[in-house]
Amino acid sequence: MGDNMSKGTMVISLDTELAWGTIDKPDSYQNNLEDYKKTREIIDKILVLFIEKNISATWAFVGHLLLESCKEKNDIKHPDYIRTNFSHYKNDWFKMDPASNIEEEPLWYGKDIVEKVINSDVYQEIASHSFAHLLYGNSETKKETAISDLEEFEKAINDYNIDCKSFVFPRNQVGFIDELKKFSYITYRGEEPSWYDGFSRYPKKVAHMVDQFFAITPPVVEPVNNDGLLNIPASMLYLSMDGFRKYIPLKSRINKAKKGINSAIKKGKIFHFWFHPFNLATAPDKLIPGLEEIIDYANEMRKSNKLEIKTMGETAEEFLED
Ligand SMILES: [Zn+2]
Ligand SMILES: [Zn+2]
Repeated sequence: MGDNMSKGTMVISLDTELAWGTIDKPDSYQNNLEDYKKTREIIDKILVLFIEKNISATWAFVGHLLLESCKEKNDIKHPDYIRTNFSHYKNDWFKMDPASNIEEEPLWYGKDIVEKVINSDVYQEIASHSFAHLLYGNSETKKETAISDLEEFEKAINDYNIDCKSFVFPRNQVGFIDELKKFSYITYRGEEPSWYDGFSRYPKKVAHMVDQFFAITPPVVEPVNNDGLLNIPASMLYLSMDGFRKYIPLKSRINKAKKGINSAIKKGKIFHFWFHPFNLATAPDKLIPGLEEIIDYANEMRKSNKLEIKTMGETAEEFLED
């Protein structure tokens, strides 16, 4: 990374999707509903924090949130969108889409949020998290479906006059890289490497708990250039506090992130920190101050000239220029 060899970089990306993460999981929708309803409030708090602390982050939006409303045409929702029939979800992909508007169904539309982020006093990057939370990395996904998804996102963002360069794959499942390039993306967030990748399911779960509980240093990453499309892999998910995760103390999350920042500085690499705003709705009184502590630490390092805090797009542009 040229002149910045000795500096670490922190990248923050947020998967902003309201209810769209459960488009193919109606049960999770019901389970998460209370947290989803709090998400707008959480997003406001995160944005205030970013502005106060002068942080530019990458907000990856599900494209459907850019709409104010949508309607069925001849009984079909989004008729231009070519469907894939998935084996894990037998319904039409848009079955959960209420085909309504933002006033009636505020968990499926989010123009207000997008505009707030765009108009933030401190620059925030708008990225894509697909149009309809399509699973790009699922082996069943048809190329035509991926292309429709990219096209619908492009149509939706057209009103905003934004050049969208960064992509975050739903469930971090990578696919259709060549199509992404054709739609002028220059970077994506790849899967997080972990020391227990090779473990089978149950030991993996235990290892994950150990990893989180003891705040083991997260991986720091180096971007990988795939012919002009840069993979900036994830380093650490800021864990929610629901289910078994509530037994992992807040302090472990904070310490893990600080270790990630330190490791990025030491190795001159990237600490890529990410979460869904709704994750913080599971315990906002803890997780928001926790986020603030992590950002304050990053800012201390930035002030002493050891760390840069950049968006995915900024990171990719600099890297690809060199
Ligand atoms: Zn719709
Ligand atoms: Zn998602």
